[in-house]
Amino acid sequence: MRWKETEYCGWGRVLSASAQVARPEKSEALTAALADASGPAIGALRSYGDAALNDGGHAVQMTRLDRFIGFDPETGVLEAEAGASITDILSAFAPKGWMPTVMPGTGFATLGGCIANDVHGKNHHGAGSFGQHVQSIALMAADGTTKRVSPSRNKDLFRATIGGLGQTGIIQSAKIQLARCSSRLIQVDERRADGLPEFMEMLAESRATYSVGWIDATAKGHNLGRGLLEEAELTSSNMTPKLRKARKIPFNAPSFALSPPTVRMFNKAYFRRVPEEGRGVLRSLEDFFFPLDKIHDWNRLYGKRGFHQFQCVLPDNTAEEALTTMLKLISKAGLASPLAVLKRTGEGRGGHLSFPMTGYTLALDFPHSKNATGLVQELNRMTRLAGGRIYFAKDSLAEPEDIEDAYPELADWQKIVAKADPDGAFTTDLVRRLKLRGER
Ligand SMILES: Cc1cc2nc3c(=O)[nH]c(=O)nc-3n(C[C@H](O)[C@H](O)[C@H](O)COP(=O)(O)OP(=O)(O)OC[C@H]3O[C@@H](n4cnc5c(N)ncnc54)[C@H](O)[C@@H]3O)c2cc1C
Repeated sequence: MRWKETEYCGWGRVLSASAQVARPEKSEALTAALADASGPAIGALRSYGDAALNDGGHAVQMTRLDRFIGFDPETGVLEAEAGASITDILSAFAPKGWMPTVMPGTGFATLGGCIANDVHGKNHHGAGSFGQHVQSIALMAADGTTKRVSPSRNKDLFRATIGGLGQTGIIQSAKIQLARCSSRLIQVDERRADGLPEFMEMLAESRATYSVGWIDATAKGHNLGRGLLEEAELTSSNMTPKLRKARKIPFNAPSFALSPPTVRMFNKAYFRRVPEEGRGVLRSLEDFFFPLDKIHDWNRLYGKRGFHQFQCVLPDNTAEEALTTMLKLISKAGLASPLAVLKRTGEGRGGHLSFPMTGYTLALDFPHSKNATGLVQELNRMTRLAGGRIYFAKDSLAEPEDIEDAYPELADWQKIVAKADPDGAFTTDLVRRLKLRGER
């Protein structure tokens, strides 16, 4: 049987869907499944909300279509099926001296998912977004026909596919440019930032290839916005990296696990982990780039109710004021978990709906509750008023008004999508919720 009734959810586990899901292992099986019915592609379901959900419809899970098709060891150009994960690529090619140029914070994300959300990594300020390193894509329409799209061939369709949330068709495979790496290790320097203005300045002045900040979202007063800055460079050390053993969260954690006093205590200790004068450590690429991947199913730490992630990006001219107001609201509410990130972003973006802009991005997790829902909706509103945008890969609570002016190329994207998928075969719950394809 090609299609099977399946319950599935986003990574935050608040939004779920029941759909007929096909899991093809070969491209012929994908074509055969599409001959019966069509629906959006699903990757590894690492988007937090409903980006990959299609409740009551069909969906095609791509994770079994994960073969490497070709690799040029001279140029580092890799062609792979869309279900190959970032970790698959890193593990296979780092020993040969190559790694994905852009990597999100989880190696479980697939090539197709990284293109469809035009993901960014810890080097966004220098390297740009994932889609900017894609050379071409084999894109399948709902009728099963495949087109090659690239920056020079079907270029509008290519641009609408990068960050296009799967709405232009199913990405079967793609050619991407890998970057050189000379070992499996990375040198990481950690420094404390005692408050938000200092933290933002440190991020802006950092010249490191990779940089990311952990922010204490419970800190108040003169500590507001304090955190730790990590700056990292690839090394040519020939030491063998010590990989941490994977662990699994075997059950849903009870709600007190993330109570405000526990989070406050944890954050204080985590901040002091780095001495005042800073420190340097050598880490494996996996530990630095995917710090949470070693704890399988870590999303169960939030208990049965699940959680929301809020992620916004704010332009330079409004960022400090908006972040100050947001962090005051967040610390007063006492609802955030310890997982909170502040990062500098550059201008690089590959598609009409790509998330990044020059400025700062803040990402925080909140266990699901009525109060957390209200807080995230308020943060979405503040993002809009500050001229920023929220990230579709993380969102589960935004409303159509929240994104109205945030994506100025939305109308161009809609025209291309309407032509590529006239019957709306690839529409998802997120696209319907935010009325992304029109009828606003
Ligand atoms: C711990 C963690 C850390 C993260 N860190 C980052 C980060 O640093 N930067 C960042 O940008 N993101 C980050 N993310 C978000 C994640 O990288 C994106 O949500 C990514 O798109 C997930 O890929 P996926 O394969 O799981 O796709 P899914 O979540 O399954 O799907 C995402 C979207 O892609 C579409 N899609 C998937 N496969 C295809 C295909 N073959 N063809 C067409 N469309 C397709 C789906 O329809 C959907 O719209 C993080 C997520 C987690 C859980």
